[in-house]
Amino acid sequence: MAGGSFTSMTPGLLHSVSPLSNLSDDLNGSRNFSERMSAPHGAVTDTIPFLSRALVTTAVGIVAGCLISAAHGFLEFTLFHLIEYLGRIGKARRLAPSFPVTMNNYRKEDFFAVAFWLMPLSAFAYTNRQIYAEKMKFSGDILGCWLYAFTMMVLHDTYFYTVHSLMHRVKALFSTFHAGHHTTRGDLTVYATAFGDPFEPALTFAPFYFAVFYYYAHENVSWDPVAWVMLLWALNMVDMIGHCGYDLPVWVFGPASSGVLLVPLAQRSKHHYIHHLDPRFNRALYFTWWDRLGGTFKEHHPKVEEKRDSGENPVAD
Ligand SMILES: [Zn+2]
Ligand SMILES: [Zn+2]
Repeated sequence: MAGGSFTSMTPGLLHSVSPLSNLSDDLNGSRNFSERMSAPHGAVTDTIPFLSRALVTTAVGIVAGCLISAAHGFLEFTLFHLIEYLGRIGKARRLAPSFPVTMNNYRKEDFFAVAFWLMPLSAFAYTNRQIYAEKMKFSGDILGCWLYAFTMMVLHDTYFYTVHSLMHRVKALFSTFHAGHHTTRGDLTVYATAFGDPFEPALTFAPFYFAVFYYYAHENVSWDPVAWVMLLWALNMVDMIGHCGYDLPVWVFGPASSGVLLVPLAQRSKHHYIHHLDPRFNRALYFTWWDRLGGTFKEHHPKVEEKRDSGENPVAD
């Protein structure tokens, strides 16, 4: 890839980790653990730092998960008012005008849904922080960074489409992880991003990003912060826009998705709105390609046309 994100680093870098940062070695290193336990005098003195490191890592994970979720909430708040303003000046159209635009009770569920899956991921990142710090490299290659963000979104979209489709096919998965999210239909706002089931992102987001973080911790590759800012910005904004309840002008997707969703056949808020009205359709996250290939794509849906100006309440269907 043209970007610096995949640039190879010096061999041997993977093993240059400080003892403090390598909790995973402690957790997985049964030989060291059994050695500690079999040494009567060393066992206690070795176990105390091990426990203190575990406690610190857990605390860091919890605090980081909450802080990132709070930042996500601030983005929601900002975007909510920006989109509402665009609606007032006629630049954006409410998909279901019969519903009032309110900051509703989604926020509490949304906060924990975002925070929960980020806690173990943050703890994992903290554990491997020295490795990540050593592998960080500003490439200065903006096109490469954009291609990296695009590639990651294509990969995550593939994963998301598969898992999301499974949740709609397997009753137990749907009722456990996804039914709550589908209680929101015509009354969508940005606060519906993760509404309903706090553990849903444990299926739709966590495994993908854990795999990526694990890859960077164990493979001989560097990463570019610029590419990751592009990616994480787009991930947050696109998910919120997908739930905003407005038909937005295309230019919004330039800054909102780091430009990634300006590619042909990218998802728009209308598509995910259709998914909330009729869950058989539009199950992807970023692009419409998988839905088109899988026969689950809908560009127009009679329910949207019916609800748009009728004043009818879709939730009562
Ligand atoms: Zn949704
Ligand atoms: Zn769904």
